[in-house]
Amino acid sequence: MGRRIIWQLYPPYILLILAALTVVIWYASTSVENLYRERTSADLYSRAVLIEQQARHLLTQDRHQALDSLVKELGPDSKTRITVILTSGRVIADSDEDVALMDNHANRPEIQQALEGERGVSSRFSNTLKKSMMYVAIPLVSGDRIEAVLRTSIPVKMVDETLTTLGNQIAVGGLIVVVLAALISLVITRRISRPIERLRQGAERFAEGDLSYQLPIPSTEEVGGLAQSMNKMAAQLDDRLRMVLRQRNEIQGILSSMVEGVLAVDPEGRLLNLNEAAAEMLQIDADQVRGRSVRDVIPNEQLRDLLTHVLASREPVEGAITVGEENDERYVQGHGTLLIDPQGKSIGAVVVLNDITRLRRLETVRREFVANVSHELKTPITAIKGFVETLLDGALDSPEDARRFLTIVADKVDHMTEIIEDLLALSRIEQDVDKEEIRLERGNIREVLEAAMDTCVGKAKEANVDLVMECPEDLYARINNPLLEQGVVNLIDNAIKYSGERDKVDIRAEAKNGHVVISVIDHGSGIPPEHLPRLFERFYRVDKGRSRQLGGSGLGLAITKHIALAHGGEISVKSELGQGSTFSIAIPHTLEATGDIAPVSW
Ligand code: ADP
Repeated sequence: MGRRIIWQLYPPYILLILAALTVVIWYASTSVENLYRERTSADLYSRAVLIEQQARHLLTQDRHQALDSLVKELGPDSKTRITVILTSGRVIADSDEDVALMDNHANRPEIQQALEGERGVSSRFSNTLKKSMMYVAIPLVSGDRIEAVLRTSIPVKMVDETLTTLGNQIAVGGLIVVVLAALISLVITRRISRPIERLRQGAERFAEGDLSYQLPIPSTEEVGGLAQSMNKMAAQLDDRLRMVLRQRNEIQGILSSMVEGVLAVDPEGRLLNLNEAAAEMLQIDADQVRGRSVRDVIPNEQLRDLLTHVLASREPVEGAITVGEENDERYVQGHGTLLIDPQGKSIGAVVVLNDITRLRRLETVRREFVANVSHELKTPITAIKGFVETLLDGALDSPEDARRFLTIVADKVDHMTEIIEDLLALSRIEQDVDKEEIRLERGNIREVLEAAMDTCVGKAKEANVDLVMECPEDLYARINNPLLEQGVVNLIDNAIKYSGERDKVDIRAEAKNGHVVISVIDHGSGIPPEHLPRLFERFYRVDKGRSRQLGGSGLGLAITKHIALAHGGEISVKSELGQGSTFSIAIPHTLEATGDIAPVSW
């Protein structure tokens, strides 16, 4: 850090002022001194001239005594020492001393100058008075002969004293000027430095990130311009930062709301970014892996290979990745592209991951379904073909055999029809659900159960099974009446099929936890637990032979499950081997006893 601006400006100012003042004072005092000395000598000369006349008069009459008395009288009055010296150097009159005691004055410089006819001036030490004196001497001329020299003098001390007083006054004035100048220059330097200091403080706030701060604009043009420019710069910076932030948030928002996994790497294979979907697919913690090498943080080898491949290729790269443990694998499709800057240099790569597990499963389900349908239909067709051939081979001739075989053929055709009808029913429900075309209206549950029992009562009688219903009168729900009835019929039908002789099947409905739960309870063989999870799949049968023998299509429970789903509910089963099974449909309960309910698509 350098020195503060005030300390850079102020001392030179003071030095400048002192130097200027010294020169001025020196010049002024020398001038004053010279002037004063000149004036003093002119003064001494005037005094000499004033008494010149009288002195010359007394001198020409040789009245040396009178001359001495005259100067002794005039000298003290005018505070001037007056001396008269003959050309020989002998002093004949002196205002301050006894002439008899005085030595020869011929070689005094002012005397010598005067003897040559000029005005003699000299400042020197007086041997007579033992102090510094200033002398002026003029010749006393009679005719054209120099008779003597008249000299006036005063002590230099008097001159010096005056000069010292004058000097002191100048010094005091100077000091006052210095102090004033110092104060003024302090004010000026502060006026220059303060706005700059404010700018510095403002710039520091900018640097700390407070870009919305506005610097005050000082009145000086240069500093004011600088402050304005800085304010403009900060505002622009603020705008850009906001834009970058907004863009970053947008990208982050897009990435995190994407179902597809996205990961970006730099050319060295370090993970720059990955979204939540990618982290979840790869089962890694997004925050921990950012900035680290793909080699260290991505356990999946296929993905690592894909990334290496992408970084090495200018073309988009595709690859299949399997993640997760055995039996719970997820299949992911990866699409990678190299990122290239405007100069054509690689700046990394982006890989988009698509979880195609569901698609794959659907594909499998579809394949299995086609296989199942084919198989289901093939069995009766093979049988029909066999009987028809037997008939053609001669059985037709025996009317008894022919009737028997044709009855079987008719049974098989019925079975096939049943399968096809169930398939059609199932696909209709599915399509209606897909198109949201199933209309739900407020309906009484007891009525539905009664209708279903009516349908099944014949079969129940045949099988010697009692149907017992338990249902409150005022139980309502939003239902599609014929569909729900179909679902309950399927359950009762199964219950009758899998009950023993003289058994009873309970059909119950109740309101429970906001749902209407319809249960069909039998006391038959029950279902082994390992079959329960798959029971509602199409064509799934616990005992294939028995089911076919009982004339089931294997689609009844699948249909009922879809009916439950179409009501916004679900189906469940509880079963114990040898004790019987309970199948339950739970659909949302409608509490209001009256009121129109508009058909709702859901
Ligand atoms: P199906 O037309 O063969 O009855 P479902 O889909 O209705 O086909 O039933 C599938 C299988 O579930 C049946 O084959 C049967 O093995 C078993 N199942 C259904 N209901 C019962 C029940 N009440 N008791 C025992 N097993 C049952």
